[in-house]
Amino acid sequence: MSAIENAVIETVQLLSGSKIPPWKVESHLQETYSLIPPENYRLSAKIRRRYLRERTGVDIKYLTLPEKPYLVNLECGVCSIPYQLAAFDNNRYCSVCGEELIEDKPQKTYPLTANYIGGIDDYFSYCGNFECHGDIEKEFTGILQYGTGLGPIGVTRGGFFIKRYGGADIKVTETARACRNLGYMFPDESSRKQALQLIEDFLYAVREEMNISLSKWRGNVQFIELLPVEDMGRIYLFIDFTAEFDLYRGHGAISKAAGIAKKMIDEKLGSAGIKFLQSGIIQGYDGDLKPSYRNKRGRYCLARLSIPESEFEKLTGKTSEDFLDIVRMDSKGAEKLGGLHHTGMGGEIIAGVYKAAKINPHAPLVSSTQKIICYGEGGNIIYGVEMPNIEAGTISSTEGAVPPLGREMMQVMGINSAREFAAYLTMLVLAGELNLSIEIARGNLYKAD
Ligand SMILES: [Zn+2]
Repeated sequence: MSAIENAVIETVQLLSGSKIPPWKVESHLQETYSLIPPENYRLSAKIRRRYLRERTGVDIKYLTLPEKPYLVNLECGVCSIPYQLAAFDNNRYCSVCGEELIEDKPQKTYPLTANYIGGIDDYFSYCGNFECHGDIEKEFTGILQYGTGLGPIGVTRGGFFIKRYGGADIKVTETARACRNLGYMFPDESSRKQALQLIEDFLYAVREEMNISLSKWRGNVQFIELLPVEDMGRIYLFIDFTAEFDLYRGHGAISKAAGIAKKMIDEKLGSAGIKFLQSGIIQGYDGDLKPSYRNKRGRYCLARLSIPESEFEKLTGKTSEDFLDIVRMDSKGAEKLGGLHHTGMGGEIIAGVYKAAKINPHAPLVSSTQKIICYGEGGNIIYGVEMPNIEAGTISSTEGAVPPLGREMMQVMGINSAREFAAYLTMLVLAGELNLSIEIARGNLYKAD
């Protein structure tokens, strides 16, 4: 067996036995096998991939591992600005003035991102394992596409804490909602009144036709709300359709079904001689997800971890009351800013998870609402995160194809459904927030040298 093969086998064993954390593979190879940077970077990524194969049975194929997976320092002599570029980036010209960049001597190198496992367009990290119980009984394998900083390390450490205290309790709804809104504008109040009565009696037929259309995507109409609104003397009626789905995100499906409803209601009003000035499927009321307590879209998920107070005090060196004070102070800051909820770093993790899974919606903005929960109960600290609006379609469909890389990564993660995606996302957010709160309590965050 060659020295390299030996290093791979021995280090994979250390990872499997949790003897070293995944971000220490580079330094382990350097210290034990004298594999110095940049020699150790690619091998470290291969070792983490080998560990993932042993853990999950997935032999990663679609996530590219470049020959030189590390960063180098360069500089533009004209602009006097420093650059840190991927070593495999052949465009070595200044983005500002176009001058050729100069390498620093001696050349220093850095990891593309902590816990790197591959990726050219985006850099992917393995970020630990996540044990949950309750509605989902599983230990997920964490994959994250998340910047160059310490993010993946923080999430990994949070995963360790969750496991140490018996896993998180998870509640996640069986279905997710998608909404579409149909608006009518009437010439006067009496037309709207007549229309309201007629539409209310007619909704059962509308619902039936919508359900036929939605059934292709395993969806059905959950409820329909009628909302009269006035503005600048104009008389409106909003009809808000909410459908539920177990696997698909369903926005294309509900949009099409709302189109069927519009045609039926337009014709019904016309044949009854009820006048209306405008009708349209409008985006304002329920288009993209608005940060509002009333928003009905997506799937609800809550993950909570219970840590005995005595353990918590050992972990942070703070009493549980001191810790709760710090979290309350942090929460007050979010409130002063006008945020709906208390969040710390979850927004970045949410984006990182969506980018790694490459699901529909690709952009994470619509699902970014998140809330930290922290309280004392029966001698324990309960730390959790609640995510009320997770939108996810994990199955390739006409609504959004999931690329092969996304499908492969979800196999590694252990995600088989949109409901499991919601649980996975919430677990990673919980891990990141928990680790951050613990580090704040310990006084380790942004500590002066
Ligand atoms: Zn320049």
